[in-house]
Amino acid sequence: MPFPSRPRGRLARAAATAATAAATAVLVCGTLLGTAPPAAGHGKGPGAEPGAEPGAEPGAGPGSGDRRVAVAMVNFRDGALRDPAGLERTLTDRYFGKDRSLDAYYRTVSRGAARFVPAGSDPVAGPLDLPVRGAGCDNRAWARETRRLLAERGVTERDYDHLSIVFPARAAHCDWSGLATVGGGTSWLPDDLSPDALVHEFGHNLGLAHQTRADCSGGALRACRTTGDTGGTSPMGGGGASAGLAAPEMRHTGWLRGARLARAAGGDSGTYALRPLHGRGRGAHALEVALGGGASVLMEVRAPAAGLDRNVSGLFAYRVRGGAHARAEMIDTGSGGLLHPGDTLTSGTTRLTVMRTAAASAAVRVDRAPENQAPENRAAPGDGLAGTGADPDSTLPLALGGGALLAAGAGAVTYATRRHGARLR
Ligand SMILES: [Zn+2]
Repeated sequence: MPFPSRPRGRLARAAATAATAAATAVLVCGTLLGTAPPAAGHGKGPGAEPGAEPGAEPGAGPGSGDRRVAVAMVNFRDGALRDPAGLERTLTDRYFGKDRSLDAYYRTVSRGAARFVPAGSDPVAGPLDLPVRGAGCDNRAWARETRRLLAERGVTERDYDHLSIVFPARAAHCDWSGLATVGGGTSWLPDDLSPDALVHEFGHNLGLAHQTRADCSGGALRACRTTGDTGGTSPMGGGGASAGLAAPEMRHTGWLRGARLARAAGGDSGTYALRPLHGRGRGAHALEVALGGGASVLMEVRAPAAGLDRNVSGLFAYRVRGGAHARAEMIDTGSGGLLHPGDTLTSGTTRLTVMRTAAASAAVRVDRAPENQAPENRAAPGDGLAGTGADPDSTLPLALGGGALLAAGAGAVTYATRRHGARLR
């Protein structure tokens, strides 16, 4: 899985309404590719959420339900947190506060289907004095000792879905500014953590990969090349916590379902009107066009809505291979990912044409006919989106800008980028 770590300048130049701040965003994060399944949701169904929109879909997906978070402040043998009482207040607010918190972000983006709640009566535990050093950044040892000390206090792994370890950054000098298991429940964050990093790392816990951008010049999807560029329309792609999740990510978590998602299956043709992905109201908020073999294209309109996407606007498309929505790539036809009226995307006998775009809507036509097949695509293999770039499943990340590939351990691959003094935004 490629790891993006450089500014996404092309998108920003193309998108007049895109955030200039996001244009310089640098992803600085490490992920652990674990084998643990996503934690199951717990507690009440989303329908019980007072703030949920009437008619909101029950959130049957890996991200939904009450997700219990054990936040543990830790000290090391060679370094301690300077102001644990102050940090406890800050973390309580950052994780569970009413506004701009981890919980607030995912409640909003899931439309009430997911909540991040304290695992115990104390929102934040510790500081726990770990009998290990911070220097060297042995995050596995930190997690092992944290779990052991929590268990001694009566908090076992059955009591939480997520364990988030907050450590004194100055004692550890890690190369990364955040680390998380993909699909597991553990994250490691420095005590100077940002809201953007927090949302990003928990996105990994929900199974989401980094959002990257594929070069699909001319719109021929079978000729796309995977790049290390970020998409910028998600906190998983450098968009920060002011951006909502992108449509494929919403599909993965189970938060884009029912009438909110228009589907063009098999041979379906027609014109589809789209509302903003995170907007309210009836109608389709995204379109998924099946291409066969588990491949599909997701299309979305992004515009400010529900306090999200303040800096993300326009029509975007993503390619999904093998049904893996969590690893979808943004399709870049040459405008940095933005699509404009008249743009086309072709794959086999399928052609998607952008009919109209406006500030908060778009229309896309789907045609299925042999004459749509571009000559260069006729010899392509069966998978409707057989990219010619690197296979993300078998390629170790190429961390750009001096990023480093770190250790590979049993059952997991660890990688991270250099901190460079820049923070995940
Ligand atoms: Zn990451």
